[in-house]
Amino acid sequence: MVTGGASPLVVVLAAAAAVLVVLMVSPATALPAGLPDIKPPFPNPWSAFKNLSGCHFGDERRGLAKLKEYLWQFGYLLTASSSTPSGRFNDLFDADVELAIKTYQRNFGLDVTGDLDAATVTQMMAPRCGVADIINGTSTMGNLSAVLHGRGLFSYFPGSPLWSKRTLKYAIATSETSIDRATLTQVFARAFARWSEVTTLNFAETASAADADITIGFHAGDHGDGESFDGPLGTLAHAFSPTNGRLHLDATEAWVAGGDVTRASSDVAVDLESVAVHEIGHILGLGHSSVPDSIMYPTLTSRTKKVNLAADDVQGIQGLYGGNPNFKGVMPPATSSREMDSAAAAALPRPFHGLISAAAVAVRLALAL
Ligand SMILES: [Zn+2]
Ligand SMILES: [Zn+2]
Repeated sequence: MVTGGASPLVVVLAAAAAVLVVLMVSPATALPAGLPDIKPPFPNPWSAFKNLSGCHFGDERRGLAKLKEYLWQFGYLLTASSSTPSGRFNDLFDADVELAIKTYQRNFGLDVTGDLDAATVTQMMAPRCGVADIINGTSTMGNLSAVLHGRGLFSYFPGSPLWSKRTLKYAIATSETSIDRATLTQVFARAFARWSEVTTLNFAETASAADADITIGFHAGDHGDGESFDGPLGTLAHAFSPTNGRLHLDATEAWVAGGDVTRASSDVAVDLESVAVHEIGHILGLGHSSVPDSIMYPTLTSRTKKVNLAADDVQGIQGLYGGNPNFKGVMPPATSSREMDSAAAAALPRPFHGLISAAAVAVRLALAL
């Protein structure tokens, strides 16, 4: 969210989606221990989009209004130009919707057809960060031509806001979650370390929210910042741009905080640390990226762990805060290709700052993970 804005920038976390894993809502038979008592079936708030597969320009189909609301939430439809007189979206697939879908497809590396083809619908149903992909009409997700010129696909918020101090304190509120404090402390310490090891930033937990630059909390539904959470899946979390410092997690997700999320029996289990690393990126000033392997990609598949910064993330954050002299460009042990990517990143010039207009307008970042 944009600091001082009339409405908060909500950020959405999303997933690695290279593999368009459809997070469907299948009833979980057994939730990992310690998870909230959520009764199946889980109503993925976007599951009805599958009924719109095949829709294209000129169609009128029941349910399109909901999809238009989604496109508006994440910044792809700017106004309710295609709405009914009452101000609500109608079910007509008009030119604005076609344009919005093309932009969405470009941002997510899909075929740019302008139609609601199966791949597009599948991507739209994936759980994600609540922060918008496009803020104030300016795409915050990089474009592929930037890569051809040696630039990253990372992005910043309008005006490229950042923290002026280099040591930031954070507080974790434990209300509304059954996850114990010791586990939360460990998860967030690891998540913040991902960013401190590549920059000159330092982070320290503090017990007092009043003393903190960054406040982390779990919330359900409407929690007072204009960006309601939607229950399991859908949007997973959101965070605000510098120097607001608020990081909110949907309390109703089936969070896995301590164990191996890939072995979770629940189909809707979401890895807390993965989401935390992404949302901290927003807290520090990064917007979403079109690089599927990057931490700042908007969607995050359930039962997936994704905590290693990609070269794109490193380029982005170092463009704001500079590099850590101790960081040699070698990524945490992951895959050999990751290490190659990071080595390549270290050799690249200072990241491109463009794409974002200086118009620092109050923007609404929808974060949904
Ligand atoms: Zn996000
Ligand atoms: Zn919130």
